[in-house]
Amino acid sequence: MSFVAQFGGRCAAPSCDRPIRSGDEVVYVDQDLVHDECGLDTGLPGPATRPICPKCFTEMSVSGACVC
Ligand SMILES: [Zn+2]
Ligand SMILES: [Zn+2]
Repeated sequence: MSFVAQFGGRCAAPSCDRPIRSGDEVVYVDQDLVHDECGLDTGLPGPATRPICPKCFTEMSVSGACVC
């Protein structure tokens, strides 16, 4: 059940790097607060949502950085 955030915070969804701001539609997934549109993402296994670098075979971060 989503609701309007009263306070800012951090979105707990692994695929999201945006902050939660007051006035945003948010939803609790377990104990974690995420954007309403991010709520469906959090049930997925994390590694599947991130690309793997073809050179160093590490998982890229949200910003696209890897170790090479
Ligand atoms: Zn989010
Ligand atoms: Zn790399």
